[in-house]
Amino acid sequence: MKTSPSHAHVITGSLLLLAGSGLMGACGEGVARLSVAKQADTTLAPLPTRVQNGEGGAAAPATPDTAPDAVAPSDGGTGTKPSPDLSAFENLTNSAIFQHRGYTFDSSSALICGDAGTGILPLAKVRNTIASYLEESPEALSLAVKVLTFHTNPKTLQRIEKFRKDCARNESPNRCLLSKYWANSLGLEGEEASLRVLALFLDKGIRVQRSNADDFAAFNVDQIRAIEKTVRKLPRTLIRKMGRGQPSLGVDKFVVNGHTPLTIYADSENDGQLGQTLKDKNALAFSPKELDKARSGKMYKDVGYLFRADFRLQMLLHEIGHLADSYAGESPFTSTAEVAALLDASTQALWPSHWWDAFEGSNGIKGGRNSRTRGDKFAEIFAQYVLQPHALAASAPEAYAWMSANVFVTADGSPVEYEGYENCDPAVSRPLNVGEKALAPTLNSKN
Ligand SMILES: [Zn+2]
Repeated sequence: MKTSPSHAHVITGSLLLLAGSGLMGACGEGVARLSVAKQADTTLAPLPTRVQNGEGGAAAPATPDTAPDAVAPSDGGTGTKPSPDLSAFENLTNSAIFQHRGYTFDSSSALICGDAGTGILPLAKVRNTIASYLEESPEALSLAVKVLTFHTNPKTLQRIEKFRKDCARNESPNRCLLSKYWANSLGLEGEEASLRVLALFLDKGIRVQRSNADDFAAFNVDQIRAIEKTVRKLPRTLIRKMGRGQPSLGVDKFVVNGHTPLTIYADSENDGQLGQTLKDKNALAFSPKELDKARSGKMYKDVGYLFRADFRLQMLLHEIGHLADSYAGESPFTSTAEVAALLDASTQALWPSHWWDAFEGSNGIKGGRNSRTRGDKFAEIFAQYVLQPHALAASAPEAYAWMSANVFVTADGSPVEYEGYENCDPAVSRPLNVGEKALAPTLNSKN
């Protein structure tokens, strides 16, 4: 399987994918071992843009092993260079920041039933969150901006240096810098995006970044709002555990006082597949273009449903589920015999997005479910626990019980339970009518 010695991390990606090709028993071991190794876990099915790469048949999940190439140089600042001097964080992280009081946890279905415009935290609340932290710890601003704009690519560093110069005389150079960092090509959106990203970091220790690659790909504000909503579905105990995760994985990980911020970064070189998980860096990479394929309002003829809800949350939670798999450190849950057996015996619920219907027959996609690897099954069940717990509890009661006992647990040991899509009225998707089906594009285009 070592097809290309120059792509060490690519090999692990392709192994993971091959592991889903029906050799579940033998490859399960491989997956477990590889999860510990430094790797880019290519996770979601590749999407039609692979066609542009001249890889027409590449829409099947067996092939995104070419994509992780992009990961090393565009790792959102979690790369091989040393972290910036963040020693001043020491006193802050223990008391004054990461207090989870602005982006409050929401187990109800309020954030998930509506479309992308639903459940957005008002900007005034975002500003208040920032103000409350900076009132207590003014020094947190420059530290946070340092973390949020930390990159290693020389071209990116040049851009940031220019922003810094442009902002030198601003009354708040740090806020100005972050705003320019997030501004799109028209100079718009930077202000709101920077506020939301700053608040998310101060409150949750979660770092959202632009790409470290030359194109400096960015999420737009609408996508950052979707990330916020996703984060609000995660209990603080889980976020904290994930921040402390992977202590023995990767010596070059980005550390803020013992806390490895969950990093979510834009990566257009990820086009052709929706998301990637870099377990040893506690990082997720999403192609902004691919992510929006799951946005509310979309319809695809090979899916057959209109997305009323914002199914980007489903995608984001799937990738976060890969990280949750290994937050305990060197031993991912899926590497244990107990969880492997549990997963093998479990049948996932069907997603109301019917996302996987478009990939039916591809490697490991069967009956509308993604069972490509045990890791993928784990990630799907993780996401379903949050988004459609009743359906999951009905289809995989033991997996549901395991998640509630081992992953979704509050500090006092009680399970976290959710209201899911089942509570939404109207339903989060509806079948396309004949006319819509005729006009709708294809999600999994193979030509
Ligand atoms: Zn996956």
